[in-house]
Amino acid sequence: MALMLRTPSRSSPKVRRLAKSAPDYGEQVVTILVGPKKKAFTVYEKVITKASGFFEEELDREFKMSRERTVSLPNDTPEVFSVYKHWLYSHAIFSQMTEAQNKKQSWKEFTLLSDTYMFGEKIQDSDFKDAVLDSLIEKAMEEVQYPSHILPAIYEGTQDGSPLRRFMVDFFAWHGYGGLLTGKNLNGDFGNPELRGDLLRALLAVRDENPSLSWTEMMKYAPYVAGTCTYHDHNASETPCYKTKYKI
Ligand SMILES: [Zn+2]
Repeated sequence: MALMLRTPSRSSPKVRRLAKSAPDYGEQVVTILVGPKKKAFTVYEKVITKASGFFEEELDREFKMSRERTVSLPNDTPEVFSVYKHWLYSHAIFSQMTEAQNKKQSWKEFTLLSDTYMFGEKIQDSDFKDAVLDSLIEKAMEEVQYPSHILPAIYEGTQDGSPLRRFMVDFFAWHGYGGLLTGKNLNGDFGNPELRGDLLRALLAVRDENPSLSWTEMMKYAPYVAGTCTYHDHNASETPCYKTKYKI
């Protein structure tokens, strides 16, 4: 006989979930060999092929050719793949090195996030890309830093119109200042001609749209302050945001 207790029901977030809504990982595992030293990662095939069109195709091809369930990624790094593996099972981005990062660690995390975004583009996983870009936006806003050192790699590794490029340019246009464009920065981090064109256009657009506001007032209207879906892939495919899907 079940005992009825008089404790009122609580409305706090639940730990329990419906058994039938548990993630289905399947049983088959695959091996991903990452970097020149071929670090081996094991993941459930069902999880990775559902999330990424790239891995679905590669694994299919490898299996047909050699009956192997292995994909080699010699040009990527284990650090980047590790972020992806954790995302696949937890839908969180584990990129922070320590709780209170020094400047060098913080700079490294920016590089990791931007490399990870470009990896997401290669493997065609929209939810992952959107979450990585949100992590970069969150970090840049929290630390009030402009990570110009990642600009050259971004302009090298992405196409015109890439959301990562758009955010970097918008963030400079709305939160940056002229002093960033001095000395060796000008021909170093800001040296790419495409980047310079994008920056000029973004700066003029900010001025055109907000002729009478002070700088601090204006920053409140930056496109990434209101919400980050404007940089997300799901916009183009009209699928729900990963935040809605995974209740983040
Ligand atoms: Zn979104």
